[in-house]
Amino acid sequence: MSPKSNGVKIIVRVRPPLPRELAFDTAVEVLSNQELIAYKPEQEFASVYDTVLGEDSTQDDVYKVVKDGVLASLSGYNNTVMAYGQTGTGKTHTMMGEHGVDILDTDKEKQRRSFGIIPKAVQDLFAYAKVLQSRENCLVNIVISYLEIYNDRLYDLLQPYKKNGRDPLDQVKKKEILEVREDGQGNTFVPNLQSVKVKNTEAVMKLMAKGNRNRAVRHTEMNINSSRSHAMLQIAIEQWPDNGNDGRVMRSKLNFVDLAGSERWNTKLDMAVERINELTSINSSLSALGAVVAALSDGRQHVPYRSSKLTHLLQDSLGGNCKTTLIATVSPSGDAFEETVSTLKFADRAS
Ligand code: ADP
Ligand code: MG
Repeated sequence: MSPKSNGVKIIVRVRPPLPRELAFDTAVEVLSNQELIAYKPEQEFASVYDTVLGEDSTQDDVYKVVKDGVLASLSGYNNTVMAYGQTGTGKTHTMMGEHGVDILDTDKEKQRRSFGIIPKAVQDLFAYAKVLQSRENCLVNIVISYLEIYNDRLYDLLQPYKKNGRDPLDQVKKKEILEVREDGQGNTFVPNLQSVKVKNTEAVMKLMAKGNRNRAVRHTEMNINSSRSHAMLQIAIEQWPDNGNDGRVMRSKLNFVDLAGSERWNTKLDMAVERINELTSINSSLSALGAVVAALSDGRQHVPYRSSKLTHLLQDSLGGNCKTTLIATVSPSGDAFEETVSTLKFADRAS
C-alpha cells in the first residue's frame, strides 16, 4: 500500500497518552512510518499516509517533514500548513510548541525540544532571508497578519476587542468582521487586516502572543484553553532583486493554520444555542476544507473554494504549485476511538 501521490501532503501525528488516559486501553498502533491502525474489540480502521509520526516523535521530527515546503516559499511558492484534530490531541503543541513554552526563550536546546513548527519555520525564514540578502543582494521583506475565523466570520487578531463585554461571544460581536477579496490574478486578500513588517522571530512571537490574547476562547470538557475558532498566521514574503533597483518583485505567502477542534457535538453536554451554532459552523467549515483538499487530490477541475471563509481565504495557497501539508493529530487512547477514526477518515479522504 502507498498513499496516492498528489499536491497535498498528509501527516498523522499520535501524541503520548495524557495522565487521565492511562486508565484506558491503547487504541492506536503505528505500523510503519506510513501506516497506522486504530482498533478496539471488533472494530478497526487501517490507513496509509505520507508520513505517520508516533508517540515518541519529537518537535524536530515534525518540523523536518514541512521544512522543505517552508523554504520553498523563498523560491516563490505559496505554502499552507494546517493542523486538524479533536481538541486536546496536539494541534497547538505541533504548530506552536509545548504547552506553556516561553517562545522568547533563547536557550537553543529548549527551543529544539519544545518549539513547534511556527517558531522553527520563522527562525529558518529569517536565517535564509539573511543569506539571500547578503549573497544575492536581494531585498527581502517579511510581513505578517494574524487572524481568526469564528462561526465563518473573519476577525483580525492583531486588533483588540473593544473591552465592553465580559463574555467572549459578546466581544466577538463588537469586533469588525472582515471580508475576503480577490485581485485580478486570483490572489486573495483581506481589506483592513493589519499587516506588520517584522525583522526577527522575536517580533513575530510577540505579535502572536498579543493575538492569542484576543482569541475567542471557550471552555470545553476536554481542554479549558481550547479554541473554537481557526487561527491563521499569514506570512507574506516580498523579494526585490538587486536591492530593489531592478523593479521586479517576487511575492509568496506562507499560511499556518491551527484549526478549530474537529469533535462532533454531544447533545447531552451541549445545550447552549451559541455552542450549537459554533459546532455547526466549525463542522461545516472543516467539511468545506475536506471537500477542497479531496478535490485537489483527485485533480478535479472544480474546487469548491468559495464554500467557506477558510477555504476562500486559502484559495491562492492550496493546490496548483502550492505546497500544502495537513497534519492530523490523534490521541492514542481507547477513550477517543470514535474521534480518532473520524480524524483518520478525514485525513484519508484528503489523501
Ligand atoms: P489541541 O491544540 O489539539 O487542543 P494541545 O496542543 O493543546 O491540543 O495538546 C493537548 C495536551 O496534550 C497538552 O497538554 C499538550 O502539552 C499535550 N501534548 C500534545 N501533543 C503532545 C506531544 N506530541 N507530546 C507531548 N505532549 C503533547
Ligand atoms: Mg489548541
